Amino acid sequence: MRVSDLIDKEQCCWDLNKVRACLEQEDAKMVLSIPLPTGNVADKLIWHFNSNDKFSVKSAHHLALNLSSKEQASSSKMDSGLSWKFLWDRQIPPKMKTFGWKLCRGALPLMHNLAKKQVAVMDTCPVCKADNETEHHLFLTCSFAWQVWALTNIPWSVISEWRSDAED
Ligand SMILES: [Zn+2]
Repeated sequence: MRVSDLIDKEQCCWDLNKVRACLEQEDAKMVLSIPLPTGNVADKLIWHFNSNDKFSVKSAHHLALNLSSKEQASSSKMDSGLSWKFLWDRQIPPKMKTFGWKLCRGALPLMHNLAKKQVAVMDTCPVCKADNETEHHLFLTCSFAWQVWALTNIPWSVISEWRSDAED
């Protein structure tokens, strides 16, 4: 599906029914708040975080840092009530923090998450095809994940403990 599929081209506006059918309520609300051009304007890519409208890694890095600090301020508690400080305070690269945050928030583009967002995919793990591709499966129960874990320097006793915890 493309963004243009959600636009009523004759009326030059969002197709409310399609947007609401394809997106969760919060996402639909945000999409519907995006103004569309009223005339026949050619599409072009614009990175509005740079004054010249062109993407740069530097501007993306600044954006990520700003989002990260805003997220820290507005979402200092996890759903379980635990603090996100355990993640944000780690001495690890920011991209790993973001990945960990997305993992914990169910925001990784896993088949299960995509299927929940009405993307037409099978939610089965594309690697082992033994279960749905969820965060839990991808990192803890997928047979391929275990092969990857076995290649790390993490002691097998620790990995085995994770595995038994995951299967409980
Ligand atoms: Zn799998």
